[in-house]
Amino acid sequence: MQIGGLQKLTLIDYPGKIAATVFCIGCNFRCPWCYSRELVLPEEITPTPKFGVGAEKDFFNFLKGRKELLEGVVLCGGEPTIHKDLPEFCKKIKKMGFLVKLDTNGSNPEALKNLIKENLIDYVAMDIKAPKEKYNGAAGIKIDTGKIQESIDILKNGKIDFEFRSTILPQIHTKEDVMSIAKWIKDAKVYYLQQFRPEKTIDPAYEKCKPFSQEELESIQRVCNIYVFTKLRI
Ligand code: SF4
Repeated sequence: MQIGGLQKLTLIDYPGKIAATVFCIGCNFRCPWCYSRELVLPEEITPTPKFGVGAEKDFFNFLKGRKELLEGVVLCGGEPTIHKDLPEFCKKIKKMGFLVKLDTNGSNPEALKNLIKENLIDYVAMDIKAPKEKYNGAAGIKIDTGKIQESIDILKNGKIDFEFRSTILPQIHTKEDVMSIAKWIKDAKVYYLQQFRPEKTIDPAYEKCKPFSQEELESIQRVCNIYVFTKLRI
């Protein structure tokens, strides 16, 4: 597994758990507003001082020393499911007694299904970038929304704990767009609306974008609540 960074402690990334977050390198999307460009764009990927590219050994040594402190590990990106050795990586973490949370863009339902079937993950946070008809623009590449639908169905019809979430910003989403996402995932357990942070974005033009105000987010939350229990993550 190519590790691009490690947050040694997080109280917010894994709901209800004390965790560490592993940032996986690479992504198959190019969301123009993404603020993880140093994990996504090959020309910007640089090893971090201690946990450099491919430093799996360092990571597991770190975990060994945190057995008493941490409950789980969050795998985010980039997009973790593009890595063929993800199942093996999860297996090793689970074997050490930690829970695993996967953050995914939902583009790889086969990988998702396999990880769930093999009991290698315990929680999934899946991004929904936009309503179907606007997906390509929001993800920055042509997307097979059938794959996104498959991932949604796997989570909604399965037993694993999960959340759907969308980072929303006025330059990409209208209130109606977000409502249409809520309708799409209707009756899921929870839907998080995440505030956009205009910092070091893939398309630098988005660094100047003004995010939704608190009032606007609350107003969008209210309409989404008609379809799915919606919470704000600001
Ligand atoms: S925001 Fe988009 S480009 Fe950035 S890591 Fe997530 S899926 Fe990839």
